[in-house]
Amino acid sequence: MEPDDRTEAAVREAFSLLDHEIRLEILLALLEDWHAVYTDPKSYAELMDAVGMRDSGKFNYHLDKLRGVYVRQVEDGYVPTASVTALYRAVLAHRPTDRLEYGPTAIDSACPRCDATAILRYERGFVSVECSACDDWPGFTYPFPKNGFAGRSVRAVARATARRARYHIGLARDGQCPFCAGTTTVDVPLDDVADDNLVEIACDTCTFLVGVEPLSPLLFEERVASALGDVGVDLERYDWELPTPTTRVESQDPVRLALEVEGEAGTATIVVDEALGVRSVAIDR
Ligand SMILES: [Zn+2]
Ligand SMILES: [Zn+2]
Repeated sequence: MEPDDRTEAAVREAFSLLDHEIRLEILLALLEDWHAVYTDPKSYAELMDAVGMRDSGKFNYHLDKLRGVYVRQVEDGYVPTASVTALYRAVLAHRPTDRLEYGPTAIDSACPRCDATAILRYERGFVSVECSACDDWPGFTYPFPKNGFAGRSVRAVARATARRARYHIGLARDGQCPFCAGTTTVDVPLDDVADDNLVEIACDTCTFLVGVEPLSPLLFEERVASALGDVGVDLERYDWELPTPTTRVESQDPVRLALEVEGEAGTATIVVDEALGVRSVAIDR
């Protein structure tokens, strides 16, 4: 979705409020004692003291600009708002001023097309897994905050990214954007579903957009996961290592798609509607 003028003005206002030394000092002082919902408010005097200001007129002026946006006044003083704590968390997660790029590194997986070693790269905040030998496999790409590399090996990063993507995509399929909590739209390519076309799931507000195989977003659903387990599909594996379902259109009106997944112990058939809502799950051993 293209940001409209109102969104752009809101973004401009929110960012520009941060561009002042005194306002930054106020916010940093509040964030210092921030403990999620258990934050103790800072009194007016404590806050003024923490910022090191004597001129209450000037202090008031800047506090007032922040009030309601980044600072909330409660009975015993002031606390940071959810907006500023989310920005703070985004900085901790993405570490915008740190540089981190990873060249191709082998991981514990193989290309689903040619079986050569899979390699991981990290660029511009995205983890990509691709084949070290062929171009036939489109691979896997998902955003992963730089902070996720702390204390993890490259293999562990590959696992963590794949897990993160599976949960996020499951949530998005269920109607909620994992980043902004907005509503989502699921677009299943009904006309040529058999031609390996990807399902697109997009947020109606922010830029979250994924193109995935139809099975991936369903792994989050309890009855799908349990049926796949029953037919011997190991969900601990990377999504790209799972069997590719045979997809057929069972009916156009109402839309019903059947995904047949063959495991080592049988076949699971998952019937979904046009929004990838699960209509039925059956297993045949
Ligand atoms: Zn390959
Ligand atoms: Zn969103």
